[in-house]
Amino acid sequence: MTPATAATDYEVVVGLEVHAQLTTRSKMFCRCDSGYSGAPPNTHVCPVCLGMPGVLPVINARAVELVMMTGLALNCQIPERAKFDRKNYPYPDLMKGYQISQYDMPLCQNGWVDVENDGQTRRIRVNRVHLEEDTARLLHHADPSGETYSLLDVNRAGMPLMEIVTEPDARSPGEALAYLTKLRQVLRYLGVSDANMEEGNFRCEPNLSLRPRGSSDLGSKVEIKNLNSFRAALRGMEFEVARQTKVLDSGGRVVQETRGWRDETGETVSQRSKEFAHDYRYFPEPDLPPLAVTPAYVADLRARLPELPDAKRERFLVDYAVSPYEAHLLTESRAKADYFETALKTFDPAPPELARTRAKLVTNWLLGDLSKLLNASGQDIMEARVGPGQLAALIGLVQEGKVSATAAKEVLGVMFETGREPLDIVGERGLGRIEDGDAVLGAVRAVLAANSKAVADYRSGKAEAIKFLFGQVMKETRGRAGAPQIQQLLETELAKHD
Ligand code: ZN
Ligand code: MN
Repeated sequence: MTPATAATDYEVVVGLEVHAQLTTRSKMFCRCDSGYSGAPPNTHVCPVCLGMPGVLPVINARAVELVMMTGLALNCQIPERAKFDRKNYPYPDLMKGYQISQYDMPLCQNGWVDVENDGQTRRIRVNRVHLEEDTARLLHHADPSGETYSLLDVNRAGMPLMEIVTEPDARSPGEALAYLTKLRQVLRYLGVSDANMEEGNFRCEPNLSLRPRGSSDLGSKVEIKNLNSFRAALRGMEFEVARQTKVLDSGGRVVQETRGWRDETGETVSQRSKEFAHDYRYFPEPDLPPLAVTPAYVADLRARLPELPDAKRERFLVDYAVSPYEAHLLTESRAKADYFETALKTFDPAPPELARTRAKLVTNWLLGDLSKLLNASGQDIMEARVGPGQLAALIGLVQEGKVSATAAKEVLGVMFETGREPLDIVGERGLGRIEDGDAVLGAVRAVLAANSKAVADYRSGKAEAIKFLFGQVMKETRGRAGAPQIQQLLETELAKHD
């Protein structure tokens, strides 16, 4: 028997590099329309982004602004001087043979983001946020004989691309994913990027290494590429943890390299050995002036930042007395948070107690029934045909007792399909509350007469039989009678002995 060796306990170390396309109207250094998505190949191009000799780039001021806004939102410093550099490398998707990027003087540096994972908060330091241009796209094909060839689409070349690089501060794939989720949320709140991984305008490349727990040295890191969804990112990182653990446990060394994720097989494969900065022979871009950033410019940008997710969540907790989980869901996107607050604003001012009840009701309807309808139809809140004012109107009808909560669900369903006003639907479908007490009593008596078995069960001590009868009355009245009223009438009638 071989003696059992204690497996080394490793600590996972992850750094993250994200490239996000910016939502400018034109490209980074030319006037080409950035809206090339879905356009035929090579239709959004000009001599500048085609990399023709003799052309001169011009800096897109809006792109600089969007990157700096991001930097401020990520708690970065904005240096007073920044410059662009040439990053030289020989890939066929790079039109000029170099990429205009930023090397030692980026637009933003030294920031941080706090992320929560498994109930723990960790601060992930942001090393830098810089601005560069995107590359063209290569499309690999095979002809019928099996001969492979590649096509080049230059539409994407020269798109403004923001690169956000963290320090190796995440300590698990889950924590790295929490960072990516938070970053995407912030970029969307700012409106600086669509930040959609599946569409390729938010690309992440985690670098991951292991080290014996307690050690402060960094192990050889592996960079993971070709991740096109959050799920793939998580799987890719988890695969690397397992692979590197195996290599180290068997006495091997992890090679510093770039590995590509293969979604079909669920594994990473070696692509090439990792480049080092000196391989790129960076030098200052001679065709662009360095940027001088004034404190007034930065102050103006800071003043224009929208309320960010963390601040909004904290404010919702205080202003609306919602639970932490509800606050988290309500502020998931800026659109949802805005919907919530707009709905509340359409009510008349109310004393604090009533206002809190309303906030609770809007929260329940928005996160409950409306979210269910949105999920089922695959729509985003921005596409919903039920506007915040209409949802508020429906809730008002319930509060005033004009519609029961049950009937209101049916009304919401119709509103969702048609975009019509709740009051019209209530009138047309006869869903208003039954005001007449005798009518409810009549329904209760009819149900009791038709369900003698349940009545007998109840009277012989099976108390839960009343739930069935309650349901039958609800059905009979189409949810138009109040639940407490039905319950009370049922109890009174059942207490009477024949
Ligand atoms: Zn162009
Ligand atoms: Mn880059």
